[in-house]
Amino acid sequence: MIFRQLFDPVSCTYTYLLGSRRGGEALIIDPVLDRVDRYIQLIRELELELVKAIDTHVHADHVSGLGALRDRTHCVTVMGAESGVDVVSMRVAEGDRVEIEGGIGLDPLYTPGHTSESYSFLMGDRVFTGDTLLIRGTGRTDFQNGDPRAQYASLFGKLLKLPDDTLVYPAHDYKGDTVSTIGEEKRWNPRLHVSSIDEYVEIMSNLKLDNPKMMDVAVPANLKLGLAQDAIDAKGWSLTAEDLLRLEERGDAPILVDLREKGERERRGILPGSVHAPYGDTAENVRPGGLLHELARSARRPIVFYCAFGERSAMALEMARAAGIERSMHLKGGVEAWRAAGGRIETTS
Ligand code: FE
Repeated sequence: MIFRQLFDPVSCTYTYLLGSRRGGEALIIDPVLDRVDRYIQLIRELELELVKAIDTHVHADHVSGLGALRDRTHCVTVMGAESGVDVVSMRVAEGDRVEIEGGIGLDPLYTPGHTSESYSFLMGDRVFTGDTLLIRGTGRTDFQNGDPRAQYASLFGKLLKLPDDTLVYPAHDYKGDTVSTIGEEKRWNPRLHVSSIDEYVEIMSNLKLDNPKMMDVAVPANLKLGLAQDAIDAKGWSLTAEDLLRLEERGDAPILVDLREKGERERRGILPGSVHAPYGDTAENVRPGGLLHELARSARRPIVFYCAFGERSAMALEMARAAGIERSMHLKGGVEAWRAAGGRIETTS
C-alpha cells in the first residue's frame, strides 16, 4: 500500500495520500489549496491516478484543495451527507463506503462535535479522525455549529470504541506528533480524562481560543467548492429536472447515462430506463470505439449524463463533447434535483 502523510506548515494540517500500488488509483484526505502543486507532482512521480478527494469537514483554518484537485485531475470530491458545501460529487454517510481500486475502502463514521458535519474515516488498522480526536487533544467546538456534547458522544460512543491498537491519524498537529493509537489516547489524552459529559462540556467551553486567522476567508471559500456550472449552462448543455420531466411526458426521453457507483445506485435508486457507465470509465467510454461514443452514434436520441448532484456529469459532458459526442447534455443538480422535482426513482434490483 502507498500511504503518505503530507504536512502543510502554515496551518499545521496533515493530508493523506492513499493508493494500493504504483500505477494505480489514489485518494487524498484533507488537501490544502496552497499545497496542490506539490500533491500533483507527487501523484505524478508515484504514477498514481487521483480519483477521489475527501474533506473530513468544512475547515476554518485553510482553504481546501478539493475544488482545485477536481479541476486539475477530474477526480470526484467527497464529503459527509451533513456538509453545507454547495456542491461535491458525492456525499457519504455511515454504511456507505469510499472505495478505490486495489481493495482500498474507507468506512465513514459520523463524528460531529468540532463541526456539525465532521466525519472520521476508518480504514482497517487506522482511522482518520479529522479534528474530532487529535493527538493528546480534541478539536475545538466553539464555532461552525460545534457542540461539545455531540463531540463527547462521537469520542466516547464511537472512536474510543475502536480497538486499542487502531492507529489515529488526525487532520492537525501543532506539536510535531504524527500518529497515535486509540489505546494511547485513552491513556494519555487529558481531554478524555473526564468523569462526565458535563465536565467535558465545561472544559471545552472554557478554552478561550482566538479564532483561526484564516477563518473569515477559509470558511466562505470552503462552502463554495462546487464546480462552476454556469459555463455549461451558458452553452445550453444543461437540462433541468423539469426539462427532463417534460421531455419524458412528450415521449421524447433521451438516453440517460448514470455515472454513479454501484453502491450509490443501490442505496439511492436510479432514474427509470437509464444505463450505467461509471464516471471512472468516462474517458474510455467516450472516445471513438468506446461504448458511449458508439451508442451516441447509432442512437437517434441525445445522451444525458447524470450523477448525484451534477458535478461528475458536468465533467463527463466536457469529456464527451471534446471526444466529438455532440448530442450530449447533463442533468443539472443530478438525482437530487430530479427527486426534488417529483421525478420517479426506481430500485436497481
Ligand atoms: Fe477543523
